[in-house]
Amino acid sequence: MAPTPTTPTRSAIQVVALGELLIDLVATEAGVSLVEAPAFQKAAGGAPANVAVGLARLGVPSGFIGKVGNDDFGRFLAQTLAANGVDTRGLHYADEARTMLAFVSLRADGEREFMFYRHPSADMLLRPDEIDPAYVGTARVLHYGSISLIAEPGRSATLRAVKIAQEWGRLISYDPNLRLALWPSAEAARAGLLEGWQFAHVIKVSHEELTFLSGETDLAAGARRLWHDRLCLLVITEGAAGCRYVTAQTEGRVPGFRVPVVDTTGAGDGFVAGLLAGLLERERAWERVPDLEAVLRFANAVGALTTTRRGAIPALPTRAQVEALIAARIARIDE
Ligand code: ADP
Repeated sequence: MAPTPTTPTRSAIQVVALGELLIDLVATEAGVSLVEAPAFQKAAGGAPANVAVGLARLGVPSGFIGKVGNDDFGRFLAQTLAANGVDTRGLHYADEARTMLAFVSLRADGEREFMFYRHPSADMLLRPDEIDPAYVGTARVLHYGSISLIAEPGRSATLRAVKIAQEWGRLISYDPNLRLALWPSAEAARAGLLEGWQFAHVIKVSHEELTFLSGETDLAAGARRLWHDRLCLLVITEGAAGCRYVTAQTEGRVPGFRVPVVDTTGAGDGFVAGLLAGLLERERAWERVPDLEAVLRFANAVGALTTTRRGAIPALPTRAQVEALIAARIARIDE
């Protein structure tokens, strides 16, 4: 009997992102400390959630797995994801803890200052039994970060999702995203970030994170030290300069785009969204340098455009904006 044609449903999700979803309370004035800040403005935050929104904006169906409080901030976050086209069937609500808050200020020296409310916060309380195997398994990619690995039961929930993705043979993507203040010690942070590292096929880090994890200041040495058999692609982002990459066979660099920078918040998450969107189109691109460099050029363009507006989610670009930036640059090179 011929298979019955099935109508595509919302479950045609390509990427599931798992992790923290929180309220960023951003100081309304720049150049002040949290002590001095006169007021704070709320915004949706959380790196994996930004990645999910970034993918949706690029036209890649995405879903988010995580937990917020059964409170108005939790509802605001759920609405924000849904309004941005992210599937929220994997979002859970905690009665026993509030939605995570992060107060943020941009100090005069350009460094960001954070103060977190998680004692505990809802995101930490995601349980393994709340991970739906079919939801994770039917997506082509699982993406996660390290914040959900900090405390139980969130850690076990993250690892369960990773195990499901492994069993279904899905692509596993990891952004370690070092936030030292959230870990009991630097040692615990290193061990925790490396726990997430060992399962991933694709990893995006900053040079600073790679140095912290590997103990090597030299990028190639650091990459070699942390390389493992499952790893296919390690990407090291370098702000305005673009990114470097390491694969099992080769390494290289892809220059960034020059854009008028307003706020770099979310650039790394936009970059990851671009990277995953590119890898879905060019499967196993890490095996072919021209394909890989095209994917990383696309990711650089997404990251660059994310810096041209304030905030993360409002700044994440559409595919048309990314293609226009790449085309403009190619035109300039051809002149
Ligand atoms: P993170 O946000 O994780 O610290 P980066 O600052 O390195 O990561 O930014 C991630 C990517 O975003 C970079 O690799 C680059 O492609 C792009 N990007 C970041 N800052 C700029 C900038 N000032 N100009 C152009 N592109 C940028």
